[in-house]
Amino acid sequence: MKIILLGAPGTGKGTQAEKICAHCHIPQISTGNIIREAMKTKTPAGQKAQDFVNSGKLVPDEVVIEMVDDRLKQPDCANGFILDGFPRTVPQAQALESMGVHIDKVLDIEVPDQEIMQRLTGRRVCAECGSTYHIQFNPSQKGENCDKCGGQLIVRKDDQPETVTQRLQVYHDQTEPLKDFYQAKGNLVMVEGVGTVEEITARTLSALEA
Ligand code: ADP
Ligand code: ZN
Repeated sequence: MKIILLGAPGTGKGTQAEKICAHCHIPQISTGNIIREAMKTKTPAGQKAQDFVNSGKLVPDEVVIEMVDDRLKQPDCANGFILDGFPRTVPQAQALESMGVHIDKVLDIEVPDQEIMQRLTGRRVCAECGSTYHIQFNPSQKGENCDKCGGQLIVRKDDQPETVTQRLQVYHDQTEPLKDFYQAKGNLVMVEGVGTVEEITARTLSALEA
């Protein structure tokens, strides 16, 4: 199954992507994680991306499209995958079609902006493996360290309040039009993104079966 997870920053897309990945045994392709890894290891693409990411803007389409194209050619994607954070613009969605990729389901996770602000400012991310936590809603059992790998938990630069506002604006302007794009193709499913992680996961998995 080939799945796209759509939604604003802070809707819990990444968490849901992990759940689907474990349930359906398909790889999770998170462009945010790929880009942050490229920034950390200072690849040419990572260096191009840096200023955009840290100021809450989208990385230019051609940079992200090339990263995704490379990733989808890996053998583990042959039986399906879940795209988390891509496409984020109409040109990216068109590029995916040009790659000959047929998407089965597009899940749109909906959360009000006000709740998003609260979630993102409390978010913590593992500096080593990229797992995400929340100081209130989903704390690590190991305090300031990752439950999975013991790495240090940090606040992402782009989770500062002003940058979060900027990212929400970018979402409404550039990513939200993708709802109409996929609605027109008939494979968009809306998932209510407010509730416990377990509740939302149950909705996500049933939306995949529908
Ligand atoms: P979130 O969904 O919480 O904003 P991500 O980890 O998905 O976080 O993305 C973080 C940043 O990486 C984005 O703000 C953007 O700068 C960049 N990015 C990720 N995916 C894309 C994409 N498909 N197109 C352009 N930029 C992207
Ligand atoms: Zn970790």
